[in-house]
Amino acid sequence: MGLTGAGCGVMLLAGAAWHVAPAVTWLPLVRRFLPGLAGRSRGHHVAVTFDDGPGLDSTPAVLAALDAVNVRATFFVLGAALARHRELGRVVCAAGHELAVHGWDHRWLLGRPFPRVRDELARARELVSEVAGAPPLWFRPAYGVLTGDAALAARRLGMRPVLWTVWGRDWTATATVKSVVDAVAPDLRGGATLLLHDADHATAPGAWRLTVAALPQIVDLAAARGLALGPLRDHGLITRCGEAVNRAPAVQFPGRAGSR
Ligand SMILES: [Zn+2]
Repeated sequence: MGLTGAGCGVMLLAGAAWHVAPAVTWLPLVRRFLPGLAGRSRGHHVAVTFDDGPGLDSTPAVLAALDAVNVRATFFVLGAALARHRELGRVVCAAGHELAVHGWDHRWLLGRPFPRVRDELARARELVSEVAGAPPLWFRPAYGVLTGDAALAARRLGMRPVLWTVWGRDWTATATVKSVVDAVAPDLRGGATLLLHDADHATAPGAWRLTVAALPQIVDLAAARGLALGPLRDHGLITRCGEAVNRAPAVQFPGRAGSR
């Protein structure tokens, strides 16, 4: 497994092991050695993020739950889902939340040729930009598996790859409200990035109902620990150079005709 640099912000692991290792295996390594990529920051802020939306029934329920506790979040949307529910995307933005890119669909990026990965991310970025009225800052790959090609394409599109440091495991068929809160609790601390889901494209059907029900308890837990909850734009992510940034660097995409 080799290491290649991709600017100051993120180191990319390259090689066969990178492409086949499941996210759950290498996430601890990412958190230890690449805290910025894992979504780690300093201070008492916790970034609240939702993946896989927008969903016609689920996202409005999550928005209502967030509104009830006065928390804003980042929604990593799928381009294909946003294309079906553009108005819902606008509602998310109008409520003060942030849209980011989770890909065009929820298929693995492994093994896809670079031009295809690049074009799909560009398409999703374009749609999010149109709906949000501003280009997205963040990219999170499906299943948390960030290939070198996807990271490169995202950076060229001006999006910073961000994974997560704590999750609710709210996608499983056996999850309960208690299991979601229990999964979050140990790592809910200052600088954490929390992953939950606002649609069930890739989760157990209706799993988002647990997420909605667990949210007030997670917010209470954070408050008891003196933590502030908010979107990634307010998270002050750490770069490899040790500085905290709120915005991904603006990188001009060279055009679809370019090879890499
Ligand atoms: Zn996902």
